[in-house]
Amino acid sequence: MNADLPWLKAPLADALARARSHALLVQGPAGVGQLELAVKLAQSWLCEAAAPAQPACGQCPSCKLFSSGTHPDFQLLLPEALEAPARESLGLPFEEPDTKAGKAKPSKEIKVEAVRQLLSFAQATSARGKAKVVAIFPAEALNGVAANALLKTLEEPSGLLRFVLASHDSASLLPTIRSRCQPLPLPLPDTAAALAWLEVKGVKDAAGLLAATGGRPQQALEWFEAGLTDAAWQALPKRVARGEVAALSELAPPRAIDALQRLCHDLVRRSHGQPGQFFATTSLPSPKRAAPLLAWEGELRRAARHADHPLNASLWLEALVAQAQAAVTTSMR
Ligand SMILES: [Zn+2]
Repeated sequence: MNADLPWLKAPLADALARARSHALLVQGPAGVGQLELAVKLAQSWLCEAAAPAQPACGQCPSCKLFSSGTHPDFQLLLPEALEAPARESLGLPFEEPDTKAGKAKPSKEIKVEAVRQLLSFAQATSARGKAKVVAIFPAEALNGVAANALLKTLEEPSGLLRFVLASHDSASLLPTIRSRCQPLPLPLPDTAAALAWLEVKGVKDAAGLLAATGGRPQQALEWFEAGLTDAAWQALPKRVARGEVAALSELAPPRAIDALQRLCHDLVRRSHGQPGQFFATTSLPSPKRAAPLLAWEGELRRAARHADHPLNASLWLEALVAQAQAAVTTSMR
């Protein structure tokens, strides 16, 4: 099990101390360790050596089963598309996804079939007699039918059953799901702790990438592993302002839109004399007027809705960059 993120120590202790309900909802931004916190909570509730409300010992038979991914009283519910990557990042056994031609793309939703399987686990007796725990990540991936199938068990779990749901979009959850859970906010980690972790992971110039992601260390690591460097990120504003499509052509469409949205956000800040948030201030042009940028912001929001499947990705990107260049140029006048 590889759920040890240094900045989760305090939130874990806090969650264990504050847990009053059989169902907790970890909520906060993505990329700061929600899944890891949910898993740590589950392990702690199942641990057979730790005192009540204390973190898992890591040594007892229950902890050993948990770490090997074979604890009979633990179920982790993930959307199909996350099964392999999430289990791999936690160091749990996983099956390689079947990527044969003709195979449907793995779903990003948690479907009702998965919840039904979970319900039979929920009804069974605890194998080791301490507790039974279901972790669901991300909870907003439960589709409507699946969420409804879960409601009754979430409200009246039998015996020793506990739930921990994690969500980075808890506003989109069914109110009936939300109201059955005790909320547990997971804030952004302390910058120093996040930077120390990124450096251990081999991320160069971690401070720039951490700022680029708005302080989310797991996301910064993901961007770094996808080939983004701090130098490339800081070069982006001026390349886009010159209309260089190549500045974004390495990025998947949703990520390209996301980068432009961050750029737009920072340029609006600059137009009000504020420093950049995602980019270094020195990397940003200095716009005089916000109005063209605000109009561009609206256009980006509309484009983001279709970013998953642009019909022709290169034409789509050219249009986006032309739009960006026009907005930046106009805002400088
Ligand atoms: Zn233990």
